[in-house]
Amino acid sequence: MSIDILNITKHFDSFEALSDINLKINTGELVALLGPSGSGKTTLLRIIAGLESADKGSIIFDGEDNTQKSTQDRKVGFVFQHYALFKHMNVFENIAFGLKVRPSKLRPGKEEINKKVHELLSLIKMEELAKRYPAQLSGGQRQRIALARALAVEPKVLLLDEPFGALDAKVRKDLRRWLRKLHDEYPITSVFVTHDQEEALDVADRIVILNKGKIEQIGTPEEVYDNPVNPFVYNFLGNVNLFHGRVHNGKVEIGSIKLDVPEHAETRNKNAISYIRPHDIEISLEAKGNEFIAAEIVFIRAVGPIVNLELKRLDCGDYIEAEISKEKYRKLGLMEKQKIYVRPRDFRVFIPEDY
Ligand code: ATP
Repeated sequence: MSIDILNITKHFDSFEALSDINLKINTGELVALLGPSGSGKTTLLRIIAGLESADKGSIIFDGEDNTQKSTQDRKVGFVFQHYALFKHMNVFENIAFGLKVRPSKLRPGKEEINKKVHELLSLIKMEELAKRYPAQLSGGQRQRIALARALAVEPKVLLLDEPFGALDAKVRKDLRRWLRKLHDEYPITSVFVTHDQEEALDVADRIVILNKGKIEQIGTPEEVYDNPVNPFVYNFLGNVNLFHGRVHNGKVEIGSIKLDVPEHAETRNKNAISYIRPHDIEISLEAKGNEFIAAEIVFIRAVGPIVNLELKRLDCGDYIEAEISKEKYRKLGLMEKQKIYVRPRDFRVFIPEDY
């Protein structure tokens, strides 16, 4: 089922939580709503679900206006951060619950419920745990049950609000990959709220980046990571080094590196922000040419296959974070206090329109 979110605005008293949100989610997509705390992710999810009403705008499911429909009448399933399983019901009963409480006309018979629950248990690979109670399950297992319970009523849309937020890092990673697989096997459109960039980049078909109730960017993980449209997005999507400078004759300078600026800004004297991700930084022991940033290594963390370096620029004292492979680190024989050169590769320049 496709979802069209049209001109959604929501206030809590005078506070604007969502401001004119427009978003089209295609049938079968897994879309992540990503943003810092308070950016409006949950509010938007609740409006899609019909748990919250918008001040303005419409929610359209498959071309049909659902704005005034109750949650029960929308074909949505939910999973929340805190697995709200019924403690006094075992796994089987928890999954069957949604089917048993359906209005009598829609309620399946006992055998059909039995079959459906077993199908779902097999889908989430927990058949052998059907008789356990929530207290006898791990956090990750409980979240899988919560998901199976949401799927039992065959929703066309699955809404997930930080579903793995309460779990530890390793379990989260496993579960999000598992969710991706499940989503691909199941005919469903999913909207997933998270404030974890890595989670969104890892799992989503497209990411919607929200900030202060507005959409900053919509795109595939590659698009938003490689071509962020503004400083907020590139800062938010992982580590980045930022360099502020002014444009002169179509170039912006960092150390003695001269970077071309986008065409539209060439003729005017403007501020520019150049940026580079730590893993894109290339260093050498020699200057090689006349464009470089000279720096001193002030800190090395060489745990695991990636080595993190903190560099202090010799021209202005600003810090740069770099990541290199352990192989390169050993080959160059790097040490703290060593002088090195950052080469003019992979820098990007951004001219904020509102500067
Ligand atoms: P988090 O990641 O912390 O859950 P979020 O991006 O999901 O944040 P929302 O929960 O959608 O953000 O909240 C957006 C803004 O609206 C916040 O400033 C929040 O305080 C406010 N807000 C949300 N619900 C209400 C409410 N019922 N009454 C008043 N203000 C609210």
